[in-house]
Amino acid sequence: MNPTSEEPGRLLREEGQWTEPWGSSEDGTSCEKCDGTGMTRHDCWSCLLTGGSASCPVCSGRVRWDGECPVCRGGGKVDGEPRHGVSVFPTLEGLYHYMLVRDADLDECVIVELEARPAEDVDFDADQGAMLVIPTQVRGCESVDHQVAADIRMRTAAVGEN
Ligand SMILES: [Zn+2]
Ligand SMILES: [Zn+2]
Repeated sequence: MNPTSEEPGRLLREEGQWTEPWGSSEDGTSCEKCDGTGMTRHDCWSCLLTGGSASCPVCSGRVRWDGECPVCRGGGKVDGEPRHGVSVFPTLEGLYHYMLVRDADLDECVIVELEARPAEDVDFDADQGAMLVIPTQVRGCESVDHQVAADIRMRTAAVGEN
């Protein structure tokens, strides 16, 4: 997901490959995502919405599991430093789900398909099935399809949060 105003080619350059946390997270405060426990449930929304796959680069077919909190990396305290890598989803379904729960303005975004290798760091929203990658090629760019968005909204409701 890229803002319409930004040229996707910048994702191939080092300065375009940093991911900031959403909102303001001050270093050292107790982590809100996991309530300071260091653990949180992970939902791979790509797999939840597509039936799951052992070849999924995010979850390897685990789909839903308890694991280290990606925001605090298990330490229970916020680490709000930008992380090296571009936040992506392995499927369109996972990406649409993420845009919808975030209430993103769909008309202000374009969907960029990338070829990439996994980054070393973990995405802030890894528990939603996001991953950090270092893009090597832009394969395509398309606007958000409201029909698909409506479909994903219905399928998300069918999966449920539990
Ligand atoms: Zn998965
Ligand atoms: Zn945490």
